[in-house]
Formats: sequence, C-alpha cells, structure tokens
Amino acid sequence: MALLLYDNYARSLRPFVPLHAGAAVGLYTCGPTVYDYQHIGNYRTFLFEDLLKRVLQWNGHRVRHVMNITDVGHLTSDADTGEDKMEKGARRTGRSAWEIAALYTQAFVDDCAALGILPPDVLSRATEHIAEQIAFIADLEQRGYTYRTSDGIYFDTSRQADYGYLARLDRGGLEAGKRVDVGEKRNATDFALWKFSPPDSTRQMEWASPWGMGFPGWHIECSAMAQHYLGDFFDIHCGGEDHIPVHHTNEIAQTEARVGTRLANFWMHGYFLLASDAKMAKSAGEFLRIGALVDRGYDPLAFRYLCLTGHYRTQLNFTWEALDAASTGLARMRSGFHALPTDASAVADDGLLERFTAHVNDDLNAPRALALAWEALRGDLAPAVKRATLARLDDVFGLGLATWEPADEPVPAAVEALASARADARKARDWAEADRLRAALHDAGYDVEDKAGGYAVKRRPS
Ligand code: AMP
Ligand code: ZN
Repeated sequence: MALLLYDNYARSLRPFVPLHAGAAVGLYTCGPTVYDYQHIGNYRTFLFEDLLKRVLQWNGHRVRHVMNITDVGHLTSDADTGEDKMEKGARRTGRSAWEIAALYTQAFVDDCAALGILPPDVLSRATEHIAEQIAFIADLEQRGYTYRTSDGIYFDTSRQADYGYLARLDRGGLEAGKRVDVGEKRNATDFALWKFSPPDSTRQMEWASPWGMGFPGWHIECSAMAQHYLGDFFDIHCGGEDHIPVHHTNEIAQTEARVGTRLANFWMHGYFLLASDAKMAKSAGEFLRIGALVDRGYDPLAFRYLCLTGHYRTQLNFTWEALDAASTGLARMRSGFHALPTDASAVADDGLLERFTAHVNDDLNAPRALALAWEALRGDLAPAVKRATLARLDDVFGLGLATWEPADEPVPAAVEALASARADARKARDWAEADRLRAALHDAGYDVEDKAGGYAVKRRPS
C-alpha cells in the first residue's frame, strides 16, 4: 500500500518513494532554538515528526534522522533585525550563552524522552559546524549570490527567478509593499548569511571568518548541516508551518544557488498548536511547557495522545478540557490493554493491520488510526490477539502501552476500614463475618490477600 505524504513544495499528496533504494531514508527536522524551554506548541511539531518517522519505519524503511540545535544566530525577528535570541536569553538569565545552550538542550532532550519521541541519529549543534557554514557562504560568494552591507553578508534573492516558490511568495507584491525597514538590503526578501559582531562590543558567541568576526545566520546553519549529513538532495525536510515563508524558503534558495537542488524531495510542515485560538509564542512572555503539565498532575503522554487526535495538517486548539479528555482516553487505553492476557503464540490480526496501514499511509491520519485502535480494543477479536495487535499499533502511536503498569494508588479509607474489620473478624474466628467483609471488598473493586503477620489490599485490574 503506497505511503502518501503531503509535500508543501508540490502542494499535493505524493507517493513516497525513497531516493536511494535500499539506503536509509534521509530525514532532517529543524530543531529547537535553545534560549529558553520549548513550549507545548513546539512539541506538537516534534511529535508530528516523530509520527512521520514511525510511519516510515512501519513501512519497512530505515530512517537516518538528523536534527539541529540552533544555539546561535536565530534573531528575534525573522527579517534579520533584532538581537540574537541566545545573547538575549543569556542576559535574561544572568548566565552565559554557552551555559543556557547546554541547559535548554538538556531540557529539550529530557522532554522528548518523556513524550516518547525517538532520539535522532544525529543531534547537530550549529556552533559545532561553523566551518561547514563558512564554506557554504564562500561558495555562494564565489557564485555571485552575496553582497556586503555594514552589518553582514547577505544573499541576493533577486538572482533567482523562482525564489519563494515553496511559499508561493508574491515577490512583486512584497517589493511594492515594502516599508522603510529594508536598511541596506537590496531586496525585501534578502537575508543574512553572516552577521558581523558589533564593532563596539564583544559577543559571547563569535567566530573569525573571511568576512570578519561574527556569527552565521539561522538559515545557513540548517542548509549546511543538512547537506553535510544527508547530501545535496535527500528525502524529507520538516519543520513547523511558520518555517514555510522564510526559513525553509531561504534554505532552498541557498541550496539551489550552491548545488542546484531544492535540498529535499519532500517538504512537510506541522501546523500550529494554538492556545485559546492565539498563536503560542515564547516571546509572548508566559508559555506552557511540558513541566507545567506535569506540575498539574498530567502524564506527558496524555499530551502525545492529544496530538494524535488531530491531523498534523490542521491547527489544534489547546484547552485543559481537551487535555483532560486525552488523559481519560489514555488511561482507558492503558488499563484496557493491561487487562488483556499475554500469549506469546498470539499474532496480530492481519485485517486490522491492513486497515491501520491504510490510515497512517494516508498522509499520517493519526485520528483515524486511533479510532481504529479503539475499535480493536472494544471489538470481538480474541483477547490475546487484541493485545498482540495493539502492541504493534503502538509502535506508531508511541504511547508505551506494553510497558505501562498501574500505579500503586492509595487505598481509600473506607476500603482500608473493611479490610481491617475483616482482619479483626478473622482474629475472633468469626469466619462468616470475615467472608462477608471479603465480599464487600470485592464489590468495592479490591482483593485482599492474607500474608504472614497481616494482609495486603489490592485493586483488581479493571
Ligand atoms: P523554535 O525553537 O522557535 O526554533 O521552534 C521549534 C519548532 O517548533 C519549529 O519547527 C517551529 O516551527 C515549531 N513551532 C513553533 N511554534 C509552534 C506552535 N505554536 N505549534 C506548533 N509548532 C510550533
Ligand atoms: Zn532549520
């Protein structure tokens, strides 16, 4: 069954065929800018990318996944103005830019683990690939695509007739409507490849280059690292929908200028998570991070479940009610799965696996796939077959069904009182009363086990 993926470059669904038969699928996903914690919106995009990777694996592909860490060069405005977010973050926290990069990279890795996101094969820091970025810019310069202003080296987008094709940018309109803020740039869409350190101060992160002390632009980082690890033209490049008009547009422009390809065969984007129908932005001050969900008693995987309930190509509105519903869904799925018997000889149901493949291969339709999992759980397959089937589906969902164990919940006081009264009845050899109390415990959903010197009360699996 063909795997159909929506390619934003073509603006259509296309059957996915690896560029190099037999080799691993090359996947590059834009990683976090580590000047602060990531918010739950960012994680929706990382979860979409994890789903994509798992569906590729479901289809029998090996995946070589590269993700960058943007630890320098992402300015507060995508239009190459404003401050480097890292230097600003350093000031905000009173730590060095290098310290916050390490701190928030680790926080990101930890959150991803809590969300069941498979780690990439390569996690590449922009600051560790400055040489590749300088070599890239030097090539662009040699090919005549760059010019110098007082604050940096810029890419001249007027050199490319199809600049902005990914975003279907109306360049004429952009130029006509441009306001004064272009500074020394020749065209509104031109962007910085290398920014000079300010002459009057020393940056925490800066490097020598053929053009002077400075730091790379955010877009060149991704193009250079993607090409370095995955080659001139690889299978899939992903990011959030906000990357379409600027970041990915510019990654493509640079790569076309250097090697004549659009860098990746498929360009896929996760659509935004909104909070109260507004964009969720770190710059807006307060934002929700995974730790805040945990503080409120939610399992991070409930957020993963919530993300599975919406298609990645539609925006999803975050509400606490929606997260509550996802928590309940996850809890029911876990306990339903847990109650199913394990039987090593049981195999997954072929018909169901086939229907599941049809859903996930239809541009990662997770909501339909999830509905099918519920149908399987509630349906009339043999219990051990249900378990074997759901365990397979969970390779894609990543909800950790097979490893989940019910927590030892505290026994309610009323139940504890019944158990203790039963122990007293036994001591008094009042067997009839002891049996009556055992039945009352059973009705309350608990079993009691007598042990040397006492008893243990346990919740019966639901
Ligand atoms: P950043 O740390 O800003 O570089 O963003 C990391 C990733 O999160 C990028 O792929 C962004 O496109 C994505 N992103 C940013 N905001 C949201 C949001 N509200 N919902 C979903 N993805 C987002
Ligand atoms: Zn990127």
